[in-house]
Amino acid sequence: MAAGERKALVIGGGVSGLTTAVMLAEAGWRVRVWTAVPPEQTTSAVAAAIWYPYRAFPADQVLAWGSHSLAVFRTLAGDPTTGVHMVEGLELSREPMPEPWWATAVGSLRRAAGAELPHGYGDGVAFTVPVIEMPVYLAYLVARLQRAGGVIDQRRITTLAEAGAVCPVVVNCAGLGAAELTGDASVFPIRGQVLRVANPGLTRFLLDDHHPRDVTYVVPRRRDVVLGGTAQQGASDLRPDPEIAASILRRCTALEPALQGAQVLGHAVGLRPGRPAVRVEPETLPGGAVCVHNYGHGGAGVTLSWGCATAALEHLVAG
Ligand SMILES: Cc1cc2nc3c(=O)[nH]c(=O)nc-3n(C[C@H](O)[C@H](O)[C@H](O)COP(=O)(O)OP(=O)(O)OC[C@H]3O[C@@H](n4cnc5c(N)ncnc54)[C@H](O)[C@@H]3O)c2cc1C
Repeated sequence: MAAGERKALVIGGGVSGLTTAVMLAEAGWRVRVWTAVPPEQTTSAVAAAIWYPYRAFPADQVLAWGSHSLAVFRTLAGDPTTGVHMVEGLELSREPMPEPWWATAVGSLRRAAGAELPHGYGDGVAFTVPVIEMPVYLAYLVARLQRAGGVIDQRRITTLAEAGAVCPVVVNCAGLGAAELTGDASVFPIRGQVLRVANPGLTRFLLDDHHPRDVTYVVPRRRDVVLGGTAQQGASDLRPDPEIAASILRRCTALEPALQGAQVLGHAVGLRPGRPAVRVEPETLPGGAVCVHNYGHGGAGVTLSWGCATAALEHLVAG
């Protein structure tokens, strides 16, 4: 079959769906994306987003997929229209901390000097990774997909067979929605709440994954700073909670006193698609269409996006 005749229907317009759709379209496939909500309203749009393997499993595959994505993001950071920037930041700990398990992927990582540590912290590591400004980046992916001939429709499906009935190849990138579409009971939400404030001139990100209250991070972008957060397993309320927002602001200001009095620009909640293991594998749907699943990326969907999209494509080429 000529490359131009291959057709794929991607379910999901978040970072997983759009990245997979871009790769397919640029490989010559005729690609259509069906998404229940526009890209800017997905969980992906809420992400902070740092390249950081968080709450995604298993570690060996996450490392491989994450390394692959890191290489792509490093290249994308050379193009200011992508919204990807290489940023140095610190992961912090109150106690002496071992080298992070993902350190080999990043390469240059150093122990933070005492003077770099916020009050109350005893240790930290400094490293430079991509910070991906999601509203800009998702728009970049949409434009790149359209340039390659891809089409996006706002359309919710209730079964994958519905997609398989109109296209012989389906890629399931439905995030949390995959639970319902596949009947996969191992998928669960990990609620993340953030707020955005005006950037008082910050350039480094700060991250405390083990804060006694909840995961706490400060991620400066060009015009704003994303402050987080929460990782509430099983919670699925999409309304920002004012008490949680106040706690986030307190925790982040303790980390970075320059945030004191920063103008609050907005609040957001996203539901990370948790799963004991990221699922990238093919399945035959009732009716005979091939479906490659690409979901369950937890708190690292951006970090894993290019690696998982490549793995999904490999299944299609192999199949
Ligand atoms: C606060 C917060 C901070 C985060 N920070 C980071 C970070 O720093 N780094 C990082 O790598 N990750 C981060 N994440 C995690 C990351 O956002 C997710 O892992 C990622 O967005 C998952 O992307 P996805 O495309 O798989 O799913 P989603 O973005 O949820 O997209 C799913 C898509 O599927 C569509 N869909 C679902 N059901 C259906 C249906 N039935 N029919 C049609 N379409 C359907 C939806 O409309 C949507 O378009 C963060 C998440 C949150 C909430």
